[in-house]
Amino acid sequence: MRDGFQRGGPFYCPADSTAYFDPGFFQDLVDRFGSSGGPLAQEYVVAHEFGHHIQNVLGYIDRGQQDPQGPESGAVRVELQADCYAGLWVKHASTQPGPDGQPFLEPITQQDLNDALSAASAVGDDRIQEAATGRVSPEAWTHGSSEQRQKWFYTGYQTGDINQCDTFSAPSL
Ligand SMILES: [Zn+2]
Repeated sequence: MRDGFQRGGPFYCPADSTAYFDPGFFQDLVDRFGSSGGPLAQEYVVAHEFGHHIQNVLGYIDRGQQDPQGPESGAVRVELQADCYAGLWVKHASTQPGPDGQPFLEPITQQDLNDALSAASAVGDDRIQEAATGRVSPEAWTHGSSEQRQKWFYTGYQTGDINQCDTFSAPSL
């Protein structure tokens, strides 16, 4: 699941169950992709890749490889589900007590949320295509649009319910 659309972008490798990050990507996210930055923007990127690991464990990840591109493709559904899982993580990491009795994350502020949504928007296929070529070609989408990526992240965050992250049966993405 190659994310980031360039050398150095983060990705998850199902074969070795490992997520790879080039720390330089976090600066690219701001400088090249136009995200607002901020801690939750970076944490969203990491949580998205970890979401792919959960998909690997649950057996969903192959659906992307079998149907790799297009606006309703398996690939887009896999990516949007990973965004939803990232939102789930933000919800639970900021509200459920960890081993020391405190949540892992400080309470999420509106600014945090805006930063994460800004990152999700910045890596939308439509926005990247538009910036690169001046055109939007949904038939080549692999990750979903800016709007879809924000929507699914927010769905995970707002509901905290993994059942709401079933992008494979969702009638509309
Ligand atoms: Zn991904």
